[in-house]
Amino acid sequence: MTTERTYKAFIDFDGTITRRDLGEHLFYDFGDVERAKELVRRINEKTLVGTASWRALLDTLRDDATLDKLATRAEDYEIDPTFPAFVEFLRERGVEFFVLSDGFEFYISRVLEKAGITDATIIANDLVERDGDLVPLFPHQDEECAECANCKRNHIIENSADEEFTIYVGNGVSDQCAAPYCDFIFAKDSLLNYCERERITYFPYASFDDVRRRLEGLFAKKRLKKKHRAHMLRRQTYMRG
Ligand SMILES: [Mg+2]
Repeated sequence: MTTERTYKAFIDFDGTITRRDLGEHLFYDFGDVERAKELVRRINEKTLVGTASWRALLDTLRDDATLDKLATRAEDYEIDPTFPAFVEFLRERGVEFFVLSDGFEFYISRVLEKAGITDATIIANDLVERDGDLVPLFPHQDEECAECANCKRNHIIENSADEEFTIYVGNGVSDQCAAPYCDFIFAKDSLLNYCERERITYFPYASFDDVRRRLEGLFAKKRLKKKHRAHMLRRQTYMRG
């Protein structure tokens, strides 16, 4: 009896699906640019991490910044034009996918909806308005690790079984911990540099067309090996409980 292979895809949002990082640029648009840039620099060198990074960035916003203004502005940001076709491809092949983001759900859903993608599973942080203030909520922070505001690793482990093949597509620091838990990593920008440095096997990509072409090749293979490193990392996480 042959068992059909199943795949799960985990996709970063900012700088991966979009051309620019909205989690940075919205603060340049509505906040103190110099302070926001300095914070982003520290976030990228990981001297500022987790929920503290968002609280600091939100602190740079001008008083007139509202959730509605930020969401409306988000619509101006371009996505990789090959992403909608990639989503179609995943659906045709029966690949369930998740948009995992260390940013905020309100702008992700707005951008995806504008691109005609209305039913994606988005797992991100929340931003709400309370008494005129913008308040961040972090429902997916890991209990023990404070490195990320939204623990992408936990979502990968919770949403994929050991025998399933997992795919990761990302570009930045918020993907560094999570990507190695997947069998196939697609990397660009600083995630690519990280994979090089850590000797993690990856596929470079520039657009989602590159990812689709590579996946078509992998899906067509008679035999496909799961990545040992991903398996070991998952096991270590189970052991810690
Ligand atoms: Mg990113």
